[in-house]
Amino acid sequence: MGDARVPDSESPKDPWTFARIRDLATRRMVVKWAFLAFFVWLCVRLLQFDAWARGQGPYVPRPEAVAGILPVGHFTSFFAWIRGGGWDPLLPAGLVIIIAAITISLLFKRALCGWICPVGTVWESAALLGRKLFGRFAPVRVPRWLDLFGRGFRYVLTAAVLAVLLLVPLSEAIGFRSLPYMWVADIKIVEGLANPVMLGLIVFAFGLSVAFGPVWCRYLCPVGGFYSLFGMASVCTVKRDSESCIDCSQCNRSCHALVDVQHSATVRAPECDGCMDCVRVCPVDGCLEAKGPRGVTIKPWVWPLLVVGLWLAIYGGAKLTHTWDTGVTLDQFRSTITSGLLEQKTRGF
Ligand code: SF4
Ligand code: SF4
Ligand code: SF4
Repeated sequence: MGDARVPDSESPKDPWTFARIRDLATRRMVVKWAFLAFFVWLCVRLLQFDAWARGQGPYVPRPEAVAGILPVGHFTSFFAWIRGGGWDPLLPAGLVIIIAAITISLLFKRALCGWICPVGTVWESAALLGRKLFGRFAPVRVPRWLDLFGRGFRYVLTAAVLAVLLLVPLSEAIGFRSLPYMWVADIKIVEGLANPVMLGLIVFAFGLSVAFGPVWCRYLCPVGGFYSLFGMASVCTVKRDSESCIDCSQCNRSCHALVDVQHSATVRAPECDGCMDCVRVCPVDGCLEAKGPRGVTIKPWVWPLLVVGLWLAIYGGAKLTHTWDTGVTLDQFRSTITSGLLEQKTRGF
């Protein structure tokens, strides 16, 4: 949504020069769509793994990165680890993803949401479509009081989910990891996306986002709410120089998170996802910039490279230290998948 308001003059016409690559890096939706495409590919690979286990296709390695779609299960395991329950040797990728997201939030605000999360990309794409279709009439701005109520509601929801996860007895949280259902729940979720009820909900949420912007991300998602808590303390953030500011309001108009950048010396709002749109549109050199430790300026095109680079570095570190791959054996996966567990009607995730 925010990208649509960034001037096209930033797009060099010459193909594949450094400037072109730099331009692509700053175009947030290009980065986000690349992650969404990768995620779709992971889901396809997971279904191919399922087919192999059922004897219906060739062997395809299980993509562990798909753990990102099972937040409740992995958050339970993560908090068990925090509470001294030890590392999850069976499905550790989920823990690595959560640790990576917290690390990124502490350094680069809620940049997981701004640059990586494929779920948010779907809703932001809907909002972008709304702007293309309805121009200045979209997204429809809800009344201020309703917006504030919605934002507050998300934190109430986040606190409730955290309380439930932290109140699960440690022994149960640890035992949860070795439930065979947990090993194949990601397959059930991916297959469940084709369920007519789920498809209807997705279409409904997509339509809401076309009209009102990414409603799920702004008012409901507890995962984003959780990372916001760390994002507020982020080492790097957007800073405004009030001396040189000409009060043109372009930063506020460009902000898809509705942050009041124009009247902030330092952006600490929990809604800020480090998208860098405000920095890119500011017409005054040096007035609005992303700053790191000791006031070091981070260019808008360097910011996503740091975010994605850190994400990949944490993944690489986990692979090298053998804290990424599943400890569930292929035989265990195969016997669980063919046991009929996936076909059972299950409430919840
Ligand atoms: S708020 Fe939730 S769905 Fe939206 S981008 Fe963040 S984590 Fe993803
Ligand atoms: S875009 Fe820059 S100059 Fe304009 S109000 Fe925002 S900070 Fe000030
Ligand atoms: S304050 Fe700036 S960086 Fe943060 S979400 Fe708004 S536009 Fe993006």
